[in-house]
Amino acid sequence: MIAPKTLKLSLKSLRDFAKKRLPEETIQELDERDECPLDIVRHMCDPDQLGIQLLFIPEDCGGFGGGAFDVYCVCEEMARIDLGIATAVLATFLGSDPITVGATPEQKKYWLSRIAQDGLLFAYGATEPEAGSDLAALRTTADRVMEDGKVLGYKITGNKQWISNGGVADAYSVLANAPGGPSWFVVEKGAKGFNHDEPEDKHGIRLSNTAALSFDNVYVDADRLLGGVEGQGLNQAQLVFGYTRLMVAAFGLGAGWSALDRAIPYSTKRVQAGAPLSQKQGYTHKLIVPHVVHLEAARAYIEETAERIDAGEGSLNTEGAIAKYMATEAGNAAAEASIQAFGGYGYTREYMVEKIKRDVRITTIYEGTSEIMEMTISRDRWQLHLKTRGQHYHEQAKKYEALHDRHPDVGADIAALALHALAGVMEKARLARLTRYQHILLRLGELIAYAECAGTLSHRAAFAAENKLNEKANRRFDATALAALARIFAREAALKIAEEGLRWVAGAGGISAGEMASFEVSLDLPAIHRAQLDLISDMDYIADVLYNRAAKRSQVAA
Ligand SMILES: Cc1cc2nc3c(=O)[nH]c(=O)nc-3n(C[C@H](O)[C@H](O)[C@H](O)COP(=O)(O)OP(=O)(O)OC[C@H]3O[C@@H](n4cnc5c(N)ncnc54)[C@H](O)[C@@H]3O)c2cc1C
Repeated sequence: MIAPKTLKLSLKSLRDFAKKRLPEETIQELDERDECPLDIVRHMCDPDQLGIQLLFIPEDCGGFGGGAFDVYCVCEEMARIDLGIATAVLATFLGSDPITVGATPEQKKYWLSRIAQDGLLFAYGATEPEAGSDLAALRTTADRVMEDGKVLGYKITGNKQWISNGGVADAYSVLANAPGGPSWFVVEKGAKGFNHDEPEDKHGIRLSNTAALSFDNVYVDADRLLGGVEGQGLNQAQLVFGYTRLMVAAFGLGAGWSALDRAIPYSTKRVQAGAPLSQKQGYTHKLIVPHVVHLEAARAYIEETAERIDAGEGSLNTEGAIAKYMATEAGNAAAEASIQAFGGYGYTREYMVEKIKRDVRITTIYEGTSEIMEMTISRDRWQLHLKTRGQHYHEQAKKYEALHDRHPDVGADIAALALHALAGVMEKARLARLTRYQHILLRLGELIAYAECAGTLSHRAAFAAENKLNEKANRRFDATALAALARIFAREAALKIAEEGLRWVAGAGGISAGEMASFEVSLDLPAIHRAQLDLISDMDYIADVLYNRAAKRSQVAA
């Protein structure tokens, strides 16, 4: 783990570098020209310059040994600068992940030290034209080359699609079907038979290079098979998902905030109907506040998951999926709302928000689409529901009821209502065997993500009140504001879970008209409706915090 002070300094160097080398006009020009600024990417990865990748390389390989929390902080900062550059720099990290989790100690030392010392740029080659979400459908092959009964090496043949850094990397981790099953190999640029296409003409992240790769009998020595055993590739890919999804979650968070941090000051200066837009409740409470709430709910989940990964709780794939799903959907919605918040100006290139919107759009697609996240979340938590005979979320709810006793203002009681309702919806779905409908399964994934984030945000608010937040945690909002954010989000989550849960259960034939009233009671809809009281005053408070009016408001009240 990196010391908090070192992390702070690294983030500051990153910001200073961006200010100097990547001012907005430069970013806009590069976006217009659809150009990846390779010199800047290399500078950022050069150990004698910024050396960002050093943060993620283990200490025994010449890096600083950063953990998941550090990765989240750096990814958020990078995304605030430019998501294309962030993708280009972090592709090395992604590309080296199969090495970190799957390689032999010698392979690890060799490749990770080269990334640390030589600033080697990596790419991660998993996706194929016919194998996207379903990686098991991959067709790239790795045939053994034998000598004296021993495997001398492999010949790789096939195609990879949409590979970040595809046209500029020095080395590629490539997933291919060996005789023993899918396996990761490292291929260096310039290998005979290896080619990449021209960069894709993309909707966004145009400062990153994305290219298709082709392999025509590309020979690699046997020691390029990561881990030295065939057939481990899909497992190795699974092992890093918790981590890598957190990275993309942080991208969504950073990009979403970057858009809002343009819309918020703009609205203080833009006067319409006699007053700045920032004073119009219909504006702030639609275009700003709900997005802040969603981003901060996602942040709470990201920070909690990062802490748990760093504490050695395993790869936490499902938690990584929840973090990615919530943060990237929130980032997209925030960027979209920011265009609206700028009105006609937002629709032009000058104000950057339309670019951020184009950029952040990728985050719900790469590293697993939102729909695949919903499926991952739902399948895992469904097993928990079955294993605990429907008690899992009731048990979680009880924890939040206990938290509410200690901290009555952090919305934990409402989060508990959301979790109880979720348990009720899942149990009805079990009794009526509704998960045979894929749509129901995926919608449950969404409701689960909301319920868990509601709990986590109230927990984060309580932690802030007790002064127990991680030293590296984001401190944009104080404990009082976090409590208000938690209450707003929990209200939304509880209502969504109960009403949409009921809708899908009823819509799929899970209950009859006669059972409806008792199902509504079991979901505690009246309590969830009562919990909506004071919603607007909490939103008013968050708007005041965002516009620095909170102190003035309390002075007036005093
Ligand atoms: C700019 C960019 C950079 C990328 N960088 C990399 C990289 O560096 N390395 C790499 O390996 N890959 C990379 N990718 C690939 C990316 O991870 C895939 O595009 C993504 O996983 C989705 O795969 P696909 O495009 O084949 O879509 P598909 O899997 O065909 O999905 C299409 C749609 O169908 C939905 N869907 C898919 N399966 C199901 C299902 N079973 N049930 C219901 N709905 C489903 C999806 O959610 C999506 O909405 C990149 C992609 C882009 C665009």
